[in-house]
Amino acid sequence: MPDRDVDILLIGGGIASATAAATLRAEGHEGSILVVGRELDPPYHRPPISKGYLAGRETREEALVHPAGWWEEQGVELLTRTSVLSLDPAVRSAKLSTKQEVGYGQALVATGAMVRRLSVDGAQLEGIHYLRALGNADTVRTDVEAVDRVVCVGGSYIGCEVAASLTERGKRVTILMQEAEPLDRPFGPVVGAHVRRVLEDHGVEIVGSDEVERFEADAGGGRVGRVVTKGGRRLEAGAVVCGVGAQPDVMLARKSGLALGDLGGVRCDSRLRTSADGVFAAGDMCEYDSVLHGRVVRIEHEEVAAAQGATAARNMLGADVAHAVVPYFFSDLSDWAAMEYVGPAAAWDEEVVRGEPGAGPFSVWYLEGGHVRAMLSFDGGGDLDRARALIAAGGPVGAAGLPG
Ligand SMILES: Cc1cc2nc3c(=O)[nH]c(=O)nc-3n(C[C@H](O)[C@H](O)[C@H](O)COP(=O)(O)OP(=O)(O)OC[C@H]3O[C@@H](n4cnc5c(N)ncnc54)[C@H](O)[C@@H]3O)c2cc1C
Repeated sequence: MPDRDVDILLIGGGIASATAAATLRAEGHEGSILVVGRELDPPYHRPPISKGYLAGRETREEALVHPAGWWEEQGVELLTRTSVLSLDPAVRSAKLSTKQEVGYGQALVATGAMVRRLSVDGAQLEGIHYLRALGNADTVRTDVEAVDRVVCVGGSYIGCEVAASLTERGKRVTILMQEAEPLDRPFGPVVGAHVRRVLEDHGVEIVGSDEVERFEADAGGGRVGRVVTKGGRRLEAGAVVCGVGAQPDVMLARKSGLALGDLGGVRCDSRLRTSADGVFAAGDMCEYDSVLHGRVVRIEHEEVAAAQGATAARNMLGADVAHAVVPYFFSDLSDWAAMEYVGPAAAWDEEVVRGEPGAGPFSVWYLEGGHVRAMLSFDGGGDLDRARALIAAGGPVGAAGLPG
């Protein structure tokens, strides 16, 4: 017998759960809602962790998804520092780390993702950091205070953003990455070359087509002193920040018998229903049949997690709608550059550039067989709404059909 019952249980204290709670109330749900998250903080936006919060421009309060007081006002119960240890979908109950057993009518699994860690020699040395939570940014800020040189490992958006934020804090930063150009994996060579220029113009050193072989200690022996690369370079490093990817957190889902998918996430249908009756999923670990893309998709972006939380909430209330919001992503490199992207393109055979990189705002359109699959807007270039419409419409337009 459960110790208590709730109408809706939202598992995970991130943006997906927080948006689901807000949507449930906005759509008129008057029943009980319980959000259970294992972090110390109420749900907050993670993007500032590598940007404004790390640079010291944004406060913890500004990062919160809902302001203090919102939870009480909305009658949504929030348990922080609490994990859901297991779900029993057959009897619709959940065991919490507080030892309470909670019966639920419907549940959302929104357990997010965890950072991928490097397992190389020296990986345990002090001064090597990963960023996922606000507390990690606090640690980095304190740790780099007395440090001159920082190496950022990884050429994707977290590595680039951290390099920009720490340069803003007066550090000399090197990016070490497997890619030839930063961000060229998701956005191609034109954007990659331009991002390199922006970073280098602000003093960031970039080492591409290479990777970490090992970390070596400083003279004291306990703290990182340099990064040795597979290519034989020895990069001085008073601290290291790694942004080498994330992996969906499916521990609870696996333990609870939910079906997992080929992309490493929790397998959902187009309505974001998992394999268990009454259990939905949203956010970084949600792998769903996308009616927009015609394939299974799993995306680790903040606005996507929020939009999925909203769709799952509507479907809990009986809307029975497919999740059909075109995925959107943004990234800022300090105040040097702003990127927005709609897509995502799994593959493309043509890049159409509108505007001129280096000479103001520009956009890159990613086409596959003439179909628009994605668009990247740099510093406000291009028309994101038009791109969304073309991606959703799906039909071939070719370069000639793109806005000028
Ligand atoms: C440093 C950084 C910068 C980013 N910048 C951008 C950006 O610029 N643009 C962008 O679009 N995206 C960005 N992202 C990605 C974005 O933040 C994520 O896509 C988003 O946070 C996913 O939200 P979520 O709710 O799915 O998961 P999460 O935010 O990971 O939240 C899940 C929560 O559930 C908790 N949890 C897990 N298991 C349990 C359990 N069993 N019981 C209770 N709680 C549990 C976790 O501890 C976590 O707090 C960034 C991410 C990071 C780390």
